[in-house]
Amino acid sequence: MNLNAKLTIMERMIDIYDQFLGEFDLACEKFCAHCCTANVTMTTLEGYRILVHLEKTAATDYLQTIARQSHPDRFTPRVSINRLADICARDSDPPEEHLSPEAGPCPVLADNACPLYPVRPFGCRCMVSVRNCGETGFADMDPFILTVNDVFLQHLEHIDAQGYTGNFADVMQFLDSDENRQNYAAGRLNAAPDGLVANQPVFVLMIPPEHRGRIQYLLTQIRSIQV
Ligand code: SF4
Ligand code: SF4
Repeated sequence: MNLNAKLTIMERMIDIYDQFLGEFDLACEKFCAHCCTANVTMTTLEGYRILVHLEKTAATDYLQTIARQSHPDRFTPRVSINRLADICARDSDPPEEHLSPEAGPCPVLADNACPLYPVRPFGCRCMVSVRNCGETGFADMDPFILTVNDVFLQHLEHIDAQGYTGNFADVMQFLDSDENRQNYAAGRLNAAPDGLVANQPVFVLMIPPEHRGRIQYLLTQIRSIQV
């Protein structure tokens, strides 16, 4: 599948997800940014989408901002979500991950607003709460939304199975190189460099038994996407 087809599938998935989320009464609102931390992760496909947006809007300066302001203690995943699903399905122990709450705000957050909002990573889009996190200190999320988030994250990785997953800042810095970008667009990536992990297709979806029936209509919609 070529890169444009992958980008189109991702856009359709996001439309499906936004429609799903519209059914919930959420506290999330503009300028609420407690969840905008340096620990967001995403795939290379999502990073490429952001890059295209920055180029179209003549805002590639953000790449320097990201490089300059990426926090040294930002979260860097050791496995992708599909790899994690495999490990769990085999009853093995996933590697220990280190996530520091001290990593600070996202490098592009400015005046509590996201300059990438229309193309923000799915990890940002799916971070929602029924109560304001600033008041509670945590996100209060319906367990079904958590399941749906995992399923969408797994499918997003699946369509970018030849790419990588990593911290937002690391993926953007990787794609900031002309050579890396061209290799990615041509489907010529090799082993993941330091700080990024290889994506893989979905082999098993992380859906708890109590949500298997309820989620079927979303799976049907995702699987019906044609480009
Ligand atoms: S997840 Fe929490 S911090 Fe983020 S926008 Fe929603 S209420 Fe605000
Ligand atoms: S990319 Fe945007 S929405 Fe995501 S954490 Fe950064 S500022 Fe927040």
